[in-house]
Parts: sequence; structure tokens; C-alpha cells
Amino acid sequence: MYPVDVIDFQDMFPTEQACYEYLHLVKWPDGFSCPYCRQTAYWKMKDFSIRCTTCKKTLSVTAGTVFQDRHIPLRRIFQAIWYVVCQKQGVSALGLQRILGVGNYETAWSWLHKLRTAMVRPGREVLSGTVEVDETLVGGTQPGKRGRGAEGRELVFIAVEDKGNEGLGRIRLKHITDASGRSLVSAVKETVAPESTIRTDGWKGYSRITTNGYHHVIINHHEDVPGEDPTPLTHRIASLLKRWLLGTHQGGQQFSHLHYYLDEFVFRFNRRNSRSRGLLFYRLVQQALHIEPVPRIALKAAVA
Ligand SMILES: [Zn+2]
Repeated sequence: MYPVDVIDFQDMFPTEQACYEYLHLVKWPDGFSCPYCRQTAYWKMKDFSIRCTTCKKTLSVTAGTVFQDRHIPLRRIFQAIWYVVCQKQGVSALGLQRILGVGNYETAWSWLHKLRTAMVRPGREVLSGTVEVDETLVGGTQPGKRGRGAEGRELVFIAVEDKGNEGLGRIRLKHITDASGRSLVSAVKETVAPESTIRTDGWKGYSRITTNGYHHVIINHHEDVPGEDPTPLTHRIASLLKRWLLGTHQGGQQFSHLHYYLDEFVFRFNRRNSRSRGLLFYRLVQQALHIEPVPRIALKAAVA
């Protein structure tokens, strides 16, 4: 169902036809079923669409997905997806431009945006169990003041599942405007299932957690114990995130795109133990088939 390495990848997708057949397989894993008449027999058309032999309606597997209306061969897009899942440090639009073989940076950037959008699983899963949360500032060089953020820096909310001896579970990140109680409680509600246990430091912004259906464990910082860290898991994620932003996005200075970077980081982190790059490839293709095409106007606004 998915390639295990680069040789396998090349063998699986030598032609446009092979790529389309793979999309059919991902879209209809139990076999084709016509959405109009539920019959399963079809013809393969020359333009890679398929036609129901009963009701004669024509369907395109790419219609209504990010693969729609593209001017780049599907093979190139598949190579780009393979490249995206294989790069440990993430990818830049320039790297993608080379793979896609396009002359235009804006086209490469828009594809990177589409793939990042596909990385966010539709109906994002929420975290549960014991979840440690905290915020961190990214970007800029000036130290920031909690609660208000700082000039040129952006505040990121971090939630990490604590799996005890098994270590870190899944994470969720969210760009927030400030560390007020209102912002933090709304970030918790968006990322963590009710009834979960939320562990925080003593910051007053988290004081209303319990009235919102969560258990709250507060770890106070003791000034007299040097090196003690009340929220070590979130701090580990914060330092990984900062290093990744520096390495991949040169510090991520385009903060208008911060939420895409955060989505990409979460996707990679939550699948860090996936045995196979091929499984990631399959998941990304599968998710890309569920993402609606991004309107050009929205893309232009995002690039600008
Ligand atoms: Zn039909």
C-alpha cells in the first residue's frame, strides 16, 4: 500500500497512470463505489478519470482536492510529497521548487502551503490523559515578558501528553496573542479533551481551568531549588521547536506563516516513531485527498 524506500517509490510511480491508480486505491481502499448509484463497475478513461458503467457519470479522483487544477504532473507532486516526508528537518519552498521543476517561487510556495494544510488531519485529534501545558516565545532576540509577549516575538501555547515511563506522548501547538486567562483557557479547550488532567506552573492565567471541566495540577516553582523545572516536558518541546525553526526556516521570521510551521512541526513530532517513511507518505496523500482546494485569492494574500 505504500513505498518502503526510495527505490520502491520509483518502482511504484513510474508514470502518471500509476500515480492516478494510487490515488484511486487511497480514495477507495475497499474498491470503487459510484457515489451516484452505488454500483462498482467502471471504465478507466484516457484522461485518468473513471466512468460508472451503470449511470455513465464521470468522476475525477482529484476533483475537490488539493490535486485539482494543477499544471504540474502528478508524478512531480508525488516526488514532492516523498521529499517532504523524508526530510527530517522539514522543507523550504526553494527545496520544493527544485523537486517540482517549476520556475516560479510562488508556485512552489503555494504547494508547500497545500502540503502543510494536508498535514493537519481533518478533525484534529485532541490530547487526553495527563497533559502538561505552558507557553513559549519564539523569534526575535529580546527577552520577553510573560503575559504580554514582546516586540517581534510570538507566543506559542504548548500542550504535551505525559505518558509516564513511556515519555512524551502527542503534542499540540497553537499561536496565541497573549497569556491571559481567556487565551489560555480557550487554547486548552481547543487542544485537550475535557476531564483530562492539566499540569501547569503557578501562572495565574491557568487558574480558571477547573471551572472548565478539567482537573488541574499546579507545580509551583521553588526559588530555593536551583535547576528545578516545574514543566520540563513543554520546555523540551519548546527547545526542539526553536531549534527546528532556526534550522528550517532561518528563525521563522515570516511570522504571518507561523501557524503553518507549527502544524508541520506537530505532524512530524506526532509521527516521529512511525516505522516507515512510506506510511507517512500514505497518510499525507490520504489527507491531501480530503483537503479542499485552496482558493488562489487566499493563497495570494498569504504569499504577500
Ligand atoms: Zn453510477
